[in-house]
Amino acid sequence: MSWRGIIEQYRKYLPVSAGTPVVTLNEGNTPLIPSKALSAVLGAQVFLKYEGLNPTGSFKDRGMTLAVSKAKESRARVVICASTGNTSASAAAYAARAGIRCVVLIPKGAIALGKLSQALIHNAQVLALDGNFDEALQMVREIAGRHPVTLVNSLNPYRLEGQKTGAFEVCDQLGVRAPDYHAIPVGNAGNITAYWMGYKEYREKNIVNSRPRMLGFQAEGAAPLVRKKIVLKPKTIASAIRIGNPASWKKAEEARDESEGLIEAVTDRQILAAYELLAKEEGVFVEPASAASVAGILKLHAAGYFKKARRQKKKFRVVCVLTGHGLKDPDRAILSVKKPKTIPAKLSALLEAIEL
Ligand SMILES: *Cc1c(COP(=O)(O)O)cnc(C)c1O
Repeated sequence: MSWRGIIEQYRKYLPVSAGTPVVTLNEGNTPLIPSKALSAVLGAQVFLKYEGLNPTGSFKDRGMTLAVSKAKESRARVVICASTGNTSASAAAYAARAGIRCVVLIPKGAIALGKLSQALIHNAQVLALDGNFDEALQMVREIAGRHPVTLVNSLNPYRLEGQKTGAFEVCDQLGVRAPDYHAIPVGNAGNITAYWMGYKEYREKNIVNSRPRMLGFQAEGAAPLVRKKIVLKPKTIASAIRIGNPASWKKAEEARDESEGLIEAVTDRQILAAYELLAKEEGVFVEPASAASVAGILKLHAAGYFKKARRQKKKFRVVCVLTGHGLKDPDRAILSVKKPKTIPAKLSALLEAIEL
């Protein structure tokens, strides 16, 4: 049977009933791609969970299908979110499909072009805040607390319930077993929380017989979980994780500690190196924030972190979540490469240029 989205696929694990109107774009079922280059470097089996292939180009769709379905079930007329970009793109698309009004608050000038165009074309009301993401989130939380609008940021518990299906899929795709390590970028920390929920649930229900260590990565200039304090002016080229006061701070620490994993920082330089490696050597185009998971495992490898695992198990398994598609942020890609050279319309010029 064809794929009908994460709610139908994982219905028995989700808080839905026969009466819940399912608002879906057939999200999920994203590929788990073996990475030859990274497997060789780590001496492991490294897989890329390419979440950029969701309908609006990021993992946010897994949570949004459930959050908007439940909003529709409760007869909500307006959904609202603060966003570094992808939440607004996803909320706008699912709200359009549900016939619900959508309002999004974004930090002015700080969101990637692709994401902004998505929110706008899906007819959300987009407001640019003269402030950062953390301030935007604070404002929409207050509005949602006092007015009849549904907040669809990851503070909405249905977002995390939907996103935990990423962990189910990884296990299902690995032949119904959990990886040894799960690497993931951390911004507002909802996704690391959701994946850990999913892995724990599959273990508790005895579908798999182990759980991975969670390896979370923040950008050096936006690493409150690593520094153990709020970052007032978060800075990084990875705009999707440019967050100084994560909403799921405590739960991310729990995921780290319960799984005996870690949360570390990677520099923008390391993020961009991983971004280019994925594009050039794997043919996988992601947005910069997504590359933090790969930058992270390369950093840990260089520090000898996986040595013990390699001794214990010949081929341990590592999954890196690639959270969003590279086309979200075309400006960044263009900045990273040489511009195309112009040639005259002559065969000789073409031959000379390609040096055959
Ligand atoms: C939202 C997002 C993140 C961060 O996820 P959190 O749940 O906020 O930690 C990372 N990468 C991309 C592409 C995102 O859209």
